[in-house]
Amino acid sequence: MITVRSVSKSYGNIDALKNVSFNIEKGEIYGILGPNGAGKSTIVNILNTLVKPDTGDVIIDGVNIKNDGETIKLIMGVVPQEIALYEELSAYENLMFWGGLYDIPKPELKISVQKTLEIVDLAYRKNDRIKTFSGGMKRRINIACSLLHNPRILVLDEPTVGVDPQNRNHIFEVIERLNNEGMTIIYTTHYMEEAERFCDKIAIIDAGQIVAQGTLKELRQISNVTDQLTIKLADADNETIARITSENPLFMFDSTTGTLKVECGNIGHDTPIILNQIQNSGGVIERIYTQGTNLESVYLKLTGKELRD
Ligand code: ADP
Repeated sequence: MITVRSVSKSYGNIDALKNVSFNIEKGEIYGILGPNGAGKSTIVNILNTLVKPDTGDVIIDGVNIKNDGETIKLIMGVVPQEIALYEELSAYENLMFWGGLYDIPKPELKISVQKTLEIVDLAYRKNDRIKTFSGGMKRRINIACSLLHNPRILVLDEPTVGVDPQNRNHIFEVIERLNNEGMTIIYTTHYMEEAERFCDKIAIIDAGQIVAQGTLKELRQISNVTDQLTIKLADADNETIARITSENPLFMFDSTTGTLKVECGNIGHDTPIILNQIQNSGGVIERIYTQGTNLESVYLKLTGKELRD
């Protein structure tokens, strides 16, 4: 559905994007995860034809964006980071205004406005002025604006920044609902848990380059990050510890905490085997802690950095 091939973009001596390539299949939620300044908005603006890449190609639904920007605008809905609404107008009036920019005939537009208000769960506030809405509600109206022309692809640029948890959940539900109806979604974020929660595939971007991309499972494999099991032993003497660690060289004993640490490929499968081995070597288990691989550990391993605001 979307092919981005070897795209680069510089602003003066800043390389905003360096040789970025990815493919998105129809119906996927594709997450672009990276810190501020990584190049996420530049990708969104290129897809949206607002910014021209210096080199490379972008093909959306068979159309090269270089050749036919107008068709791309009809296929895509883009939710920018900035909220672009008239505070003095009602939600309904704002949507009628935005729909007018797409030349949608008025009777159709009225139906579409009602439908999109229902999609974002704000039909009950349609006659209220935008200035009476919370920040999260404004973002939901912003999403509605991008749906009026019934696009097949929706691009959201960090839609939950500064949004409270309740509105965040509303936004997630809207995205999941649209995706269940077949819409392809591109979602940029610097929040790991969002990418982990609903993206089918994730591209990790850092300093203008895609460091890795794939499903969470594939990213785990690429990064080679493993699950970890930590076992606290009850009053183990040196002899017992030596026996346990010599029988399985993957067991690491941490003398300061009195715990054994074991990296495992599959924590569910490996745990009973490991516990058995310890008990067979005379170890008495007091507590067990498990740490599964998450996107955070994968990200850290691949970029060498924590992802922070
Ligand atoms: P993100 O969305 O991941 O925060 P951006 O795509 O906005 O990152 O920015 C990537 C880099 O390109 C940053 O270093 C940013 O300062 C720079 N940049 C983006 N847009 C412009 C612009 N219009 N002029 C100059 N530099 C820009």
